[in-house]
Amino acid sequence: MSPGWEHQYSGLFTPLPRFAVEAYTERPRYVIHLPVAVTNLAEALDLARTLARSLASTPQVDLGGTTVSAEDAQHVRHWVFCDRIMPDRRRCAREADHAGACLPNDGP
Ligand SMILES: [Zn+2]
Repeated sequence: MSPGWEHQYSGLFTPLPRFAVEAYTERPRYVIHLPVAVTNLAEALDLARTLARSLASTPQVDLGGTTVSAEDAQHVRHWVFCDRIMPDRRRCAREADHAGACLPNDGP
């Protein structure tokens, strides 16, 4: 293989987000769309993280699947949480695209 093939194919081994896995293994689900008026993406991501964490004790809420989109481009979603699977099978609770190592979600 040519040099750099690991980078080219690294996405193949990235775990799917929890909601994507469950979409194929669980019964049909419904998603609640709760519009929140925030004027910039950074504020929307911060507020989404706060709101999602405040609902963490509700078992139906999938924190890792939380996304933010512009009102007029709802098909372009921005992940709120990293949600990578860690070696101990817990999920990373840090923000999406964070710097540094993943940290586990210790749950509610
Ligand atoms: Zn992470």
